[in-house]
Amino acid sequence: MSLNGKVALVTGGAQGIGRAVVQSLLQSSAKVVMVDLNKALGEECKAQLDAEFGEGNCTFIECDVANGDALRDAFQSTVDQFGRLDIVINNAGITNEKDWEKTIQVNLTSVIKGTYLALEHMSKEYGKQGGTIINVSSMAAFLHSPHQPVYTATKHGVIGFTRAMADAAIQGDYGVRINALCPAFVDTPLLQSVEDEDNMGKFVKFKDDFKRSMTKFGVLQPSLIAEGMMRLITDTSLHGAVMKITCSKGIHFHTYEPMSA
Ligand code: NAD
Repeated sequence: MSLNGKVALVTGGAQGIGRAVVQSLLQSSAKVVMVDLNKALGEECKAQLDAEFGEGNCTFIECDVANGDALRDAFQSTVDQFGRLDIVINNAGITNEKDWEKTIQVNLTSVIKGTYLALEHMSKEYGKQGGTIINVSSMAAFLHSPHQPVYTATKHGVIGFTRAMADAAIQGDYGVRINALCPAFVDTPLLQSVEDEDNMGKFVKFKDDFKRSMTKFGVLQPSLIAEGMMRLITDTSLHGAVMKITCSKGIHFHTYEPMSA
């Protein structure tokens, strides 16, 4: 499906899953803004994408999503440059159990801020034309690991927040679809950081457990996560959905029991 005329903002877009999603969005003719902390990587990535897709389709904004003012400016610059905003992917994430408060800031607080900023630019509540938001969680929210307690907590938080916001969007008639995506292990640089004491602190001693899980469950390619993401973007029936992507079942959805007291 063509996304011609649509504008997307992807946090953590310079590498790994975010990079694969940026590529898919450009292939579908969307304009894309990559928001990332890593300036060197972001600029290199933009140069490669300009060569492949032509200049003027993709922009890089250096920004730490944990800095609320900088994130607000990144959203505003996107709208200033491209005139609108239709798709927001809150993807930037880290695994750092040593600086666990930073992990909460990046993986959860920034996803909440990114969602609120996206709504300011897309929701009918603010007189805007609607859009779609995808918040990146993880299968860690379902298969928790002793190796990553705070990472696990943030990914649970992303799902709870996303589902509640999806209900708010329906009741408030925001005209914005909000979904969560939960990949299993994906072959990106993030997976290397889990063996590092600087990142994992005292939990690094459980790294062999973690590596055994990777062998047991397998490791996905970022391109499959981008495929799931494109489905969430283009399938207008999906709202409040929790998409899981695993080696054994591919792209599928978590099902919840109806709420009862
Ligand atoms: P990655 O480390 O390969 O890439 C993350 C990108 O985010 C990098 O470009 C990095 O510079 C950027 N980033 C990090 N902190 C940032 C910040 N504060 N502000 C702006 N940008 C920042 O990671 P990935 O594997 O592509 O992970 C992307 C998302 O997918 C994360 O939310 C992660 O938790 C989630 N996820 C990853 C896996 C996996 O196995 N790789 C599995 C499930 C979920």
